[in-house]
Amino acid sequence: MIGAVDIGGTKIAVGIVDDTGNVLARKQAPTDPNRYSEGIDLVARMLRETAQQANTQLTGIGIGSTGPVDPMKGEFGDVDFLPGWRGKSPVRDLAQIFNLRVALENDGDAAALAEAGWGAGRNRSRLIYITVGTGIGGGIILDGQLYRGVDGAHPEVGHQVIDPNGPLCSCGFRGCWESLAAGPAMVTWMETHAPENYAHKEGISAKKICELAQQADATALLAVEHEAFYLGLGLANLINLFTPDAIVLSGSVMKSANLFLDRIKSVIRQGCRFVPAEKTELTLASLGDDTNLIGAARVWHYRFGKAS
Ligand SMILES: [Zn+2]
Repeated sequence: MIGAVDIGGTKIAVGIVDDTGNVLARKQAPTDPNRYSEGIDLVARMLRETAQQANTQLTGIGIGSTGPVDPMKGEFGDVDFLPGWRGKSPVRDLAQIFNLRVALENDGDAAALAEAGWGAGRNRSRLIYITVGTGIGGGIILDGQLYRGVDGAHPEVGHQVIDPNGPLCSCGFRGCWESLAAGPAMVTWMETHAPENYAHKEGISAKKICELAQQADATALLAVEHEAFYLGLGLANLINLFTPDAIVLSGSVMKSANLFLDRIKSVIRQGCRFVPAEKTELTLASLGDDTNLIGAARVWHYRFGKAS
């Protein structure tokens, strides 16, 4: 039984995950971006409570966290959302509190490991996991191993430049995939392109746009068409670069994947002619809203368990 900890910019989720990827108990609380030691105490308390709820003893702890982390040192890097957590080591601290082995990875990598081990990516040796929500993130698995860059760095698939004249991104470039194809980009498109008298303009969200498109609202369908085009360009780049067996699609925007997939596939067909793009399977993530939590547990198995 692994204690799973998913640290996000606004919330921390904690759960107990068995060795087949089932979540037996879960809890969540808001993240205090400035206070690390209170945060770790809170995590420890939630781990004890969920273990009690699941009536079990922890055998290890896995952590998936937003932002840059150093998986080998077990430390937080320069996490924008969590200034007070920079340079701190939840791996060392939780290991001390619980006297257990603890492993940490970036949350995109953790989710990729989960889908590769227990989800839609099972038995795919070259796998790219992509999550599209308020941003775009992901993880890359090659020959069953998590791809790591220099110093264990996590590649930022969401910051590939799709249009150098596009909107300014927090990373410093213009027109990153994330700035053009994450959920907020759909909202921006609506705000700038919907007709003046469009009834749903006020306070519209990506989710609402998808709902309207499902009801064949013409303006929402245009927004979806635009979104699918940019999703397709980013995915086509990944296929040209990696020719993976599969790309697993996840995140809130992908809950409406049926709206986007045909157009995405036509973009890929258009521009991936020198690689066997038709052999790369586009598949939907299968672990649902618990993917990050399950991923955190999988991080432990990947590092210390027999699973790899
Ligand atoms: Zn960027």
